[in-house]
Amino acid sequence: MLRRPAETLASIYKQSIFTFSGKKTAMSRELHARRLEGVDKNIWVEFTQLAAEYKVVNLGQGFPDFSPPSFVCKAFCNAISGGASMHQYTRAFGHPPLVKILAKFFTRIIGQEIDPMEDVLVSVGAYQALFCTFQALIDEGDEVIIVEPFFDCYQPMVTMAGGTPVYVPLKPKKSSGQDLSSADWILCPEELASKLTPCTKAIVINTPNNPLGKVFQRDELQMIADFCIKHDIICISDEVYEWLTYDGTQHIKIASLPGMWERTVTIGSAGKTFSATGWKVGWAMGPGNIIKHLKTVHQNSVYHCATAAQEAVAVGFQREYDTFGTDESYFKQLPAQLQAKRLRLAECLRNVGLEPIMPQGGYFMITDISSLNIDLNDPSTKDELYDFRFVKWLIKEKGLATIPVSGFYSPEHRGNFQNYIRFCFAKEDSTLKAAEDILQQWRIKK
Ligand code: PMP
Ligand code: GLN
Repeated sequence: MLRRPAETLASIYKQSIFTFSGKKTAMSRELHARRLEGVDKNIWVEFTQLAAEYKVVNLGQGFPDFSPPSFVCKAFCNAISGGASMHQYTRAFGHPPLVKILAKFFTRIIGQEIDPMEDVLVSVGAYQALFCTFQALIDEGDEVIIVEPFFDCYQPMVTMAGGTPVYVPLKPKKSSGQDLSSADWILCPEELASKLTPCTKAIVINTPNNPLGKVFQRDELQMIADFCIKHDIICISDEVYEWLTYDGTQHIKIASLPGMWERTVTIGSAGKTFSATGWKVGWAMGPGNIIKHLKTVHQNSVYHCATAAQEAVAVGFQREYDTFGTDESYFKQLPAQLQAKRLRLAECLRNVGLEPIMPQGGYFMITDISSLNIDLNDPSTKDELYDFRFVKWLIKEKGLATIPVSGFYSPEHRGNFQNYIRFCFAKEDSTLKAAEDILQQWRIKK
């Protein structure tokens, strides 16, 4: 059906859905709002469902299949079995103990006095923090620069806010004879500058990056910061994997660079921080004059997230504050644990002739699969990009779930990146072993 201007819809509504007897008839007009167009497909919905259906070894969706540390689990149990207040609403913008400890913790990291009540918004996971950020700051006609590859939800969130995503790629510069690393993927300053228009309102970065694992270094962040300051642009920095860096790579918060606190919204996730993705506690942090707009979206949509989960995360952060930098700190133990898994997966991929791009951070490792030359003859997927077809084949025929990397690219650039797949290595050793067994057997048979 043709789209009609909004002002005529009310009268059409009256005419078309009620008959003269007042009974409802079937609706013949378009049901969905225009902002949903082009954002109906979702890679997590599709591949998580497929992985569940085929009961596979799952290195697809990014969640640990091991338990969170016992101190946060205990804190959650204590919260649940504590007083009645833990089962009721708490402060809309974040449970007071949680915003207080988040502010205290990150004041020490960023070197900027953070006000718990003004500068922090606790949300239902990093997802909702991102959603509030785009809804609050992006208007019709605004352009948002997104660094590719990017966590897929940035694009629909910008679009749903009425903005236009503008993509700037990280490009690989291979140094021959060396192992591939996410550090080789570079954001070119000239290319970034070329994306600027009078409509540019914000840039989104993700460090450590999902899916590539790139951790932006100080000079790279400084280049982005200079760009933001020079052109009065807001920086949205998704840092959900901030504690997960390897081989001595350091995570730097762009908000800690001179002149950047004032214009940066930093997104965090307790799910990633404490290996408890199902708790869905996240936050946005930044100057009060920006965060207050995110709060407006939050108070009118979600209001607040689960009290007991926030209480448990608060206890977790207090413990991390007290043990920071020591061997007891989970923020030190988790990357050490994942480092071993990362090396194991890399070795396994090399053993079957695949060349992994070693991630400097995060949960994921990507690899080019074109050398495998698998002839995919499933007619049901013939119109899809190669990586989507390959991953479906791997799930259905080999019982191993991964994620196609072209899903982290804009529709314009997707076709150039259809030869990569992403593995999540934040998994039990037994899961990694099961994946290894599948890959080995497949190599012999291929
Ligand atoms: N940003 C990135 C880069 C992610 O990988 C994810 C998925 N964990 C999110 C945001 C959403 O995080 P959460 O599960 O806390 O909503
Ligand atoms: N961030 C996780 C990933 O990249 C999960 C995303 C999701 O399930 N929506 O795998």
